[in-house]
Parts: sequence; C-alpha cells; structure tokens
Amino acid sequence: MAKRCPNCKAELSPYQEFCFDCGAEIKHVRKRPKHDLGFDLKWFFVGLFVPIVGYVWFFFFSRDHYRESLSAFYGAIASSILSYVFYQVMSWIGLFDPADPEGLIDAIILLISLRG
Ligand SMILES: [Zn+2]
Repeated sequence: MAKRCPNCKAELSPYQEFCFDCGAEIKHVRKRPKHDLGFDLKWFFVGLFVPIVGYVWFFFFSRDHYRESLSAFYGAIASSILSYVFYQVMSWIGLFDPADPEGLIDAIILLISLRG
C-alpha cells in the first residue's frame, strides 16, 4: 500500500521527506523497535564497577532483561579490560610485580602520596 500525504492525500514514495504537491513535511515512523536498541548507561556503570553482576546477569537473566543485562555485560567486559591494562601498565613501569601482589599496595600508597 502506498503512503499518502496526511495533508492532501497525494501519493508518496517511501523516502520522500516533503510532499511534492503541498509541501507538507512527511514524518517517517521508525521501523526499529525501541526496546531492542540502545544502551543503558546506568547498567553499564553497574557492570563497570561490579563486573560479577554484569556477567551473572547476562548469563542467567538476559532473556527477560536483554538491553539492561547486555549493557551491564559490556560494562563488565570494559572493567575487565581496564583492570588488565592497569595491571599490565603497572607491571611495565615496575610498580607491580605479579609474583608479589603486596607490591601493588605499595604502589597505590606511592601514587596517593605523590598526589597529595
Ligand atoms: Zn501533500
């Protein structure tokens, strides 16, 4: 069925943004459903700060809360990558020795003392 101008009922092609007959603006209805898209920043941060919540939620409850759990899952992944990079950089600059985890606490104390 062809689309028609809501103003003058002239026939329209699917991608027209203005009616060629009367000049009325044609508003296209978005076809993609809103709830399947987008990104829930709140749950992203939950996953970022408490990665285990993001992983557990995504693997066990994603069917009912797809968007939120996926956002939390992305946050959890981001958190894991960030902490991995953090430890790599720390060990690279010599502040953290993976064989000596207590060195990390010394490094954090050092960083805090440097800041203030
Ligand atoms: Zn029209």
